Amino acid sequence: MNYRSTRDASLAVSSAEAILTGLSPEGGLFVPESFPELTLGELTRLAELPYAARAAEVLSLYLTDFPRETLDSCVRAAYTPEKFGGVDGIGLAGVGRGTWLLELWHGPTCAFKDMALQLLPHLLTASARLLDCDRELVILTATSGDTGKAALEGFRDVPGARILVFYPEDGVSPMQKRQMTTQPGGNVHVCAIRGNFDDCQTAVKQIFTDPELAARMTARGKRFSSANSINWGRLAPQIVYYLSAYSQLCASGELEPGEKVNICVPTGNFGNILAAYYAKRMGLPVGKLLCASNRNRVLSDFIATGVYDKNREFYPTASPSMDILISSNLERLLFELSGRDDGLLRGWYASLAETGRFEVPAAVKARLQSEFWGGWCDDDATRATIRDVFERHTYLCDTHTAVALHALGAYREATGDARPTLVASTANPYKFTGNVLSAIAPPRSRDEYAQIEELFDISGMEVPPQLAALKDAPVRFAGSVAREGIRAEVERVLGIGNRG
Ligand SMILES: *Cc1c(COP(=O)(O)O)cnc(C)c1O
Repeated sequence: MNYRSTRDASLAVSSAEAILTGLSPEGGLFVPESFPELTLGELTRLAELPYAARAAEVLSLYLTDFPRETLDSCVRAAYTPEKFGGVDGIGLAGVGRGTWLLELWHGPTCAFKDMALQLLPHLLTASARLLDCDRELVILTATSGDTGKAALEGFRDVPGARILVFYPEDGVSPMQKRQMTTQPGGNVHVCAIRGNFDDCQTAVKQIFTDPELAARMTARGKRFSSANSINWGRLAPQIVYYLSAYSQLCASGELEPGEKVNICVPTGNFGNILAAYYAKRMGLPVGKLLCASNRNRVLSDFIATGVYDKNREFYPTASPSMDILISSNLERLLFELSGRDDGLLRGWYASLAETGRFEVPAAVKARLQSEFWGGWCDDDATRATIRDVFERHTYLCDTHTAVALHALGAYREATGDARPTLVASTANPYKFTGNVLSAIAPPRSRDEYAQIEELFDISGMEVPPQLAALKDAPVRFAGSVAREGIRAEVERVLGIGNRG
């Protein structure tokens, strides 16, 4: 199977090239040429396999240039019970009738990003081998908090790879910051940016598509790649858990095979919900896809109006991993909804770059609304939802998951659609202890680790040992650079400056 660019559909590359390159040279994103379909029998039989084997089955349909043994060894190395705290990596928790939380945060860094980022380094190094590329891979990553840590863990001390992470200095939770600034590993670099996530992502995308810089990298035996969800190798593994969860619920008798479910996802860069849409295209019986935003509601406004407009105030919120106004993967959805019209996409994204907005025609908006529903809530409603879920179900959820549960409640009330629903639960609550604790009880201490103990005393939920262990870890990466300084910092760290 080949991959096309959303902004130049005449371009066709293999999956290994798409993964190694990350972003297409003209700025578009790689998308599969077609969507492989699973029959209902194939779908429900996934439940008979361990998670790693389910991943290999699904990924083999997309990464057709990977020998099957290569793929098998990649997934076996990524999805081990040691790394994911259990045989199947994901937990399924019922909260009320017909609502299941897909707990995607049992991996090493306690956020759903591990589901893809434990696998991506293996896919990337395998792609480099398939393409006879022996240059050092430099993974540039912009993060709203969770991608950074998950990518650092995935790539630390991987031979032939180096990783540089940029995060917004004041835009991540204290635990997210601690996780990144204490990161061990000989090939890692972490840098705080005086700006927001969009600034980080935009700078990184510019570096990727700069031909002069690419030439300098080649001359030094290096090449850039991406660990952000702009990389196809990040998105493909995310399709697996939706198919997997459905097969498990059929196997346990909670769903009838073929019965439709809705899927509700707390959304920032639109990667996770796009993976759910791709699962639907592969034959997963899905009704509506519910896109949940925090106060940075550029996506729910877009779904309601067909106008994407990033000219608005940016709010730091209690769900910082979704504090995003330029939602990259929406571009992949629009490519599908426009009938794969790369000319339309070029126009919309030129307009976004120039004016900060674009509007899709009525037919595209109608298709969008037939598949998606958008909801949003502010921090007060987020905390109220955490409290409500805790009181009614003795279940502690994090702030991002709470945004999704709030949107689900609003959707059910507005439409009367009571269909069973899978809700992506994207982080362990202890990553956002301050906000989660204050939702259920007034914090007695201001110290983060004292608050973790308070939250444990109230909830009885186990504190992940990898977070507890960071309490006394030494800080390796302090200081910050201005957003205009990202490129210079990359050149400095890599020793590829014009005069370096
Ligand atoms: C990254 C992240 C999100 C948003 O996921 P996207 O794929 O960017 O839409 C939601 N919740 C948490 C905890 C995250 O880390």
